[in-house]
Amino acid sequence: MTDGSPLAVAMEEEESTAMAMEVEESPSPSIAPRDPPKIQRLEESVVNRIAAGEVIQRPVSAVKELVENSLDADSTSISVTVKDGGLKLIQVSDDGHGIRREDLPILCERHTTSKLSKYEDLFSLSSMGFRGEALASMTYVAHVTVITITKGQIHGHRVSYRDGVMEHEPKACAAVKGTQIMVENLFYNMIARRKTLQNSADDYGKIVDLLSRMAIHHNNVSFSCRKHGAVKADVHSALSSSRLDSIRSVYGVSVAKSLIKVEVSSGESSGCAFDMEGFVSNSNYVAKKTILVLFINDRLVECSALKRAVEIVYAATLPKASKPFVYMSINLPREHVDINIHPTKKEVSLLNQEIMIDMIQSEVELKLRNTNDIRTFQEQKVEYIQSTLKFSKSDTPVSPLPSGQKTPKVPVHKMVRTDSSDPAGRLHAFLQPKPHNLPDTVSSLSAVRSSIRQRRNPKETADLSSVQELLSGVDSCCHPGLLETVRNCTYVGMADDVFALVQYQTHLYLANVVNLSKELMYQQTLRRFAHFNAIQLSDPAPLSELILLALQEEDLDPENNEKDHLKERIAEMNTELLMEKVEMLEEYFSVFIDSDGNLSRLPVILDQYTPDMDRVPEFLLCLGNDVEWEDEKACFQGVSAAIGNFYAMHPPLLPNPSGDGVRFYTKTRGNVEMESVLDQDLLSDAETAWAQREWSIQHVLFPSMRLFLKPPASMASNGTFVKVASLEKLYKIFERC
Ligand code: ADP
Ligand code: MG
Repeated sequence: MTDGSPLAVAMEEEESTAMAMEVEESPSPSIAPRDPPKIQRLEESVVNRIAAGEVIQRPVSAVKELVENSLDADSTSISVTVKDGGLKLIQVSDDGHGIRREDLPILCERHTTSKLSKYEDLFSLSSMGFRGEALASMTYVAHVTVITITKGQIHGHRVSYRDGVMEHEPKACAAVKGTQIMVENLFYNMIARRKTLQNSADDYGKIVDLLSRMAIHHNNVSFSCRKHGAVKADVHSALSSSRLDSIRSVYGVSVAKSLIKVEVSSGESSGCAFDMEGFVSNSNYVAKKTILVLFINDRLVECSALKRAVEIVYAATLPKASKPFVYMSINLPREHVDINIHPTKKEVSLLNQEIMIDMIQSEVELKLRNTNDIRTFQEQKVEYIQSTLKFSKSDTPVSPLPSGQKTPKVPVHKMVRTDSSDPAGRLHAFLQPKPHNLPDTVSSLSAVRSSIRQRRNPKETADLSSVQELLSGVDSCCHPGLLETVRNCTYVGMADDVFALVQYQTHLYLANVVNLSKELMYQQTLRRFAHFNAIQLSDPAPLSELILLALQEEDLDPENNEKDHLKERIAEMNTELLMEKVEMLEEYFSVFIDSDGNLSRLPVILDQYTPDMDRVPEFLLCLGNDVEWEDEKACFQGVSAAIGNFYAMHPPLLPNPSGDGVRFYTKTRGNVEMESVLDQDLLSDAETAWAQREWSIQHVLFPSMRLFLKPPASMASNGTFVKVASLEKLYKIFERC
């Protein structure tokens, strides 16, 4: 699994670019001058391979999909064998219900699934898969063989697939209960991706990590994972009755014995209904890296905001600089989870995320503090009580012993952590590496904790209230009719570069995707405020040059270099201004500018979506020019709007090659215009950019809009939605004919 770090994200970004370029097999249309340009469909195989490369990004993503399928098939035993980090072979065998003989011909076609038949099913779904894309994707980038047998059959079937179709009729073969799927030569047809993976440390470690996580949650299933040919399994879990047992068998005795049980059950009153149960490590556990094994509604996910929140508690509550081990299983109403918009989506976003995280954080802190106190008391009763009694009234004393209780003698060598006469030896000195940073009143653990929090987020409450106000503004402007339309419409396709055709009940609408995406990104920026994941830019770019670039682009008379000096001055001033705001931009918006003035990180607004980097200069100029920095609320609104505009799904800057725009790509050879040829590289860049945008509109924008967009009333009248046809009226026309 990728660990969600910005670096990992950056790697994935790079890989997908490499992939997109590699699969590009652009058709070479030869157009005669003045003939109407030919509209063509992108080759199916190109589209499929692009999509497959996104679903299956690395060997571990294939393993995850296969294991999830096995879990969906009610298996009780799943074993995985891996050769060459998964590039040579991934084999997953289960004892589930198997696949019917008659389903085998369409098994690996795209959008064939047994788990979903209509859109509404998504909201009551309990299976892991539902979009029928995983197996199909694997066949586009690897050789897939399936052996399966269903109950009551005397023999099984074996069949191989390539590019979504069977290579031959299923052959009868011997089989044991369940299904065995072999994925061989992964990315054999994507040279760049294969090379990158071969050079990076192989995925076996990631696969072991994935199965370890799966194994502790699904403790009613036994898992094993081994390298091909190895006798010993690297993950081996037996069916176990308790979660703690399964953690013990997978992560070892020393982890299991350092765990504390945590539980939260929120009432309806908190505004967000959820249950959480899990285990967190206590102060005996020592590790350099946090392990957060998180399942939400039984789905293995990542949530960096939660991870950070838990780490803060540990940093503030435990003396040792240990990172925690955390297993949590959260259950919440399905409509509160943004269902997997895309199969590779691991990072979730939740409604009411802040409230949930806050409650979990408090529970972890409480449990941790309780156990920490017990331990401290055992070792240093005398001194500890003395220092607790000195706390001011407003601070919460840390459970002092009832007065008069006799305190036993403590061996001198254990009196290491407290010494009332020497401030450097006080407990908080162990908690906080720089005691002089703390206000004088800090003496209790909870005070230390909140001071750490405050350091991270200087004006947390104040800031949130203005963001809350902006979000309430979004709610109050929402147009109920449009909301209904957006929630229930079906995407038909793009009508032109800006308008999508959508159907709602018996009506057809043209919907302006630029306006819609701009608004959605703006709203999501507010909702994810201060809790963004980051996109790491592979080449940090200097602010001043980017802004200068934007000014030059804006200039209608670029030949006139009289104004160059002026532009440089404006760029300089804007850079200075933004450099003053770096902390705020990083903390709240995850826009990271390093001390040399290079932009190096941007926020993730919608998972699986990266904005068009050609628009970075314009974005920075807009931050410098259009944001009202003095007023907090106006400032947040301005920055969010600038981000919204930057991330909106504008048409790519290269003209659309499938329309008139193809002229843009003709090169003239000498003076002979008749012999014009196409600039293939540019054309293929453009085709990729347009195909990816369309994919994002269908698979990211529309599903996210259904879940999150609160369309403002203005959209009803400003041309964002235009009704183009009503079925009833069409019928009338036909009747007249
Ligand atoms: P999805 O899981 O989204 O439905 P997949 O491409 O992963 O799509 O799988 C397609 C279908 O193949 C599943 O819906 C399921 O019916 C069947 N299938 C895949 N793997 C297995 C398995 N191990 N056991 C039984 N059925 C399976
Ligand atoms: Mg699946």
